[in-house]
Amino acid sequence: MIDIYERLKSIVGDSRIFQKEYLKNYTTFRIGGPCNILVFPSTREEIIEIIRLLRETKTNYFVMGNGSNLLVSDSGFDGVIVSLKFFKGMETLENTDDVYTIRVTSGELMSSVGNYLARMGATGFEFATGIPGTIGGGVRMNAGAYGGELKDCLVCVTAISPEGEVVSLSNEELKFGYRTSILANKDYVILDATFKLGKSTTEEIKAKINDFNTQRREKQPTNFHSAGSTFKRPEGYIAAKLIDEAGLKGLQVGGAMVSDKHAGFVVNVGNATASDVIELTDKVRAVVKEKNGVDLELEVIKVGF
Ligand SMILES: Cc1cc2nc3c(=O)[nH]c(=O)nc-3n(C[C@H](O)[C@H](O)[C@H](O)COP(=O)(O)OP(=O)(O)OC[C@H]3O[C@@H](n4cnc5c(N)ncnc54)[C@H](O)[C@@H]3O)c2cc1C
Repeated sequence: MIDIYERLKSIVGDSRIFQKEYLKNYTTFRIGGPCNILVFPSTREEIIEIIRLLRETKTNYFVMGNGSNLLVSDSGFDGVIVSLKFFKGMETLENTDDVYTIRVTSGELMSSVGNYLARMGATGFEFATGIPGTIGGGVRMNAGAYGGELKDCLVCVTAISPEGEVVSLSNEELKFGYRTSILANKDYVILDATFKLGKSTTEEIKAKINDFNTQRREKQPTNFHSAGSTFKRPEGYIAAKLIDEAGLKGLQVGGAMVSDKHAGFVVNVGNATASDVIELTDKVRAVVKEKNGVDLELEVIKVGF
């Protein structure tokens, strides 16, 4: 690891690399032990060099966006976390009477992209503006809300392939599904994504965004730390409804609790550990299985287990 640290430092400089950082400071759940090395590349070249180095040296690594869909273990991550939070940039490729095409780097937050597009009068991304993740994390899992999914406006992505090549993948090639794409199953690192939007007025776009944000505040436990919906939507059911009907709202293990506002969220009500969350979600799954025969599957991604 010492050698890897020095080599990574030579790529990003010494202000963007850290050792033994607690990942709870980088996840929206505020849960997670230390990683050996945390590195923040800010250019495409740095990311490519880092990923190639880590793969060549067979170093254990994990690419992180905004950490809003992660449950990191209490013992942390034995390897290198590559955070793309500082990889920022948006570029207009096309601006006609009715079409707006933009390319966005994977570290941009969906909220920044949505607000930028609103100012430009580009419509079609409003649904994603309240999702607290990056473009990379969002595209990988086809993030969605309020009837929209990223696949609806995505044209293509540029990514580092499992073989280490920089490739372009079209919307069709990404084989999007509900909260998934081929990027979720293979070792791709997304560098940027291109979106095609329609045109509208800033006023109308902002009104839609405000409406979605109001719905979020009304329905979701936004006053507690969480990783969003804890479970995937099971075929033919709604996870939150099953959990609510099983009487599990408010069920608590340590600092982890099934939100009493929205049963689909496990929230951190104070110093929750990853073990608390696992014990709680195991209990929820067991009760729902017993009552409804439905297997709930975690949507939250486990890191370092
Ligand atoms: C309060 C709250 C509300 C939420 N609401 C929604 C919602 O409405 N809809 C929804 O879909 N989700 C929602 N989420 C979940 C989460 O925001 C999304 O899953 C988001 O897309 C995750 O993005 P991220 O950048 O935080 O990714 P991370 O959590 O950092 O990572 C998630 C996965 O993406 C991978 N990844 C990240 N960046 C890249 C990259 N550049 N290349 C390859 N892989 C990458 C990581 O390796 C990891 O496997 C919510 C979460 C919270 C906390």
